[in-house]
Amino acid sequence: ASLSDYTLSEGTRRFLAETRLGHLIDGEIVMSADEATMPVVDPNTGREFARVAEGGKAEVDRAARAARQSFEDGRWRNLPPMQKEAVLRRLAALLEDHREVLMDLDMLDGGIIRAQTPFFVQFGIDVTNYYAGWPSKIEGAMSPTGSNLIVQQVREPIGVCGVIMPWNAPSAVSLGVVAPLACGNSVVLKPAEQTPLTALFFGKLCLEAGVPPGVVNVVHGPGHLVGAGIVEHKEIDSISFTGSVETGRRIQAAAAARLKRVSLELGGKSAQMVFPDADLDRAAQAAAWAVWGHSGQICTAGSRVLVHRSIHDEFVERMVEASRGLKIGSCFDADTAVGPVISRQQLDQVSRYVDIGKREGAQLALGGARHGDEGYFFQPTIFTGVNNEMTIAREEIFGPVMAVIPFESDDEAYAIANDTDFGLAAGVWTRDVVRAHRASQRLKVGTVWINAYQLNETSVPYGGVKFSGFGRSLGAVSVEEFTHVKSVWINLA
Ligand code: NAD
Repeated sequence: ASLSDYTLSEGTRRFLAETRLGHLIDGEIVMSADEATMPVVDPNTGREFARVAEGGKAEVDRAARAARQSFEDGRWRNLPPMQKEAVLRRLAALLEDHREVLMDLDMLDGGIIRAQTPFFVQFGIDVTNYYAGWPSKIEGAMSPTGSNLIVQQVREPIGVCGVIMPWNAPSAVSLGVVAPLACGNSVVLKPAEQTPLTALFFGKLCLEAGVPPGVVNVVHGPGHLVGAGIVEHKEIDSISFTGSVETGRRIQAAAAARLKRVSLELGGKSAQMVFPDADLDRAAQAAAWAVWGHSGQICTAGSRVLVHRSIHDEFVERMVEASRGLKIGSCFDADTAVGPVISRQQLDQVSRYVDIGKREGAQLALGGARHGDEGYFFQPTIFTGVNNEMTIAREEIFGPVMAVIPFESDDEAYAIANDTDFGLAAGVWTRDVVRAHRASQRLKVGTVWINAYQLNETSVPYGGVKFSGFGRSLGAVSVEEFTHVKSVWINLA
């Protein structure tokens, strides 16, 4: 398949045909100083279908200066709150109008299946609408003092926010950009190399909505140059990063040199716990989809499924039942259930982990191999006979690979769930209200879902503990992340 074989919306065709795929700096689309470009690859075929500007430190510097200038002259931060809200609402309306384009782009470079794109895109729209309501609601406070003093606590924007994104949810660009904007900041954004298109398209819509030039800047390029350049740049005040633990660690170390505020959303090895009193049909469906969704490339993928020994065989059978025969294939086909992983590198990583799982003695109950020989598809894979010491139970695979681990008692279930470097999320399947509450107390994670998995809401904080990072996004906590409090003392004596 090539681009001409896909049913793309008119808007997508126009965007790809008429837009120079460059950086967005100071309101202009520009190519790199050295004209370098890098490929954009369709994970359904493994073929390059476009090239986008490949920037480096020079482009980060231009973007950071533009963002700084826009922040200092107040062209955005000093707009009255209701004007900022109107602009952000216009942005949300434009995202709605271009829903089809965003869905196409999710499929084209992101490999998100057609059936799931509406949810990803809607989330981006919802987040934009949610934060659009914030500028008029960010309030300060007065501290109690003697009558000769007035002390104001003023909530101010941080300045220029650096945002470094992964490839697994391109529409999350809304969250990365709109939350800082709502607080009056300017932004330098670096999308992942694999998924540059949505960020560029989004940046253009920001301009169209009336966000002044220079307030939202997008720089493409490799992480070790553009990402690292953002972390080091003296005009960039904070770093919001989503991605791997290894890169997160590197970023925190580099940001320490300038003592930048950092928030890290890293990976997970989240446990779903299935107790004997659960609704097993619902739990089996949900537990399977918590790993097959986006081919397991979601940070909260519930990749460890802990099952009480008394129901173990039956439950595995139900998950296999729910997963066997799912259609694996191009994300452009409406009936595809499992799409590609993002890249050759990711496909190799998934295969390597499956080999390790077999070598360490786990048994395959389903899948275990690449699907087809074009594109980057992998079969939904269920390993049983896993213990929590095995590599496939400890490391994030970021592919459609599930490790089923039996347990005997509730205490053992919590112990296994917590025995991991990560702490992003957990799922609990039970009809016992005491057990449900007990589990939520015992689990060392940022999110617990009870009789559900991977629900989200714009108002609900999201983030992890331990190696899953720190800082929270969504809801009102993001407003705290992107502002600081200035205390102003006025002496009336
Ligand atoms: P990554 O962490 O290397 O990349 C994420 C972003 O960071 C990209 O934009 C990248 O260009 C940038 N980056 C890379 N090196 C950087 C550096 N030194 N300084 C600043 N920015 C840098 O992740 P990846 O290589 O795309 O994927 C590797 C693994 O990470 C995956 O297999 C998966 O396990 C995990 N991952 C997790 C998430 C998540 O949401 N938690 C998302 C993507 C990947």
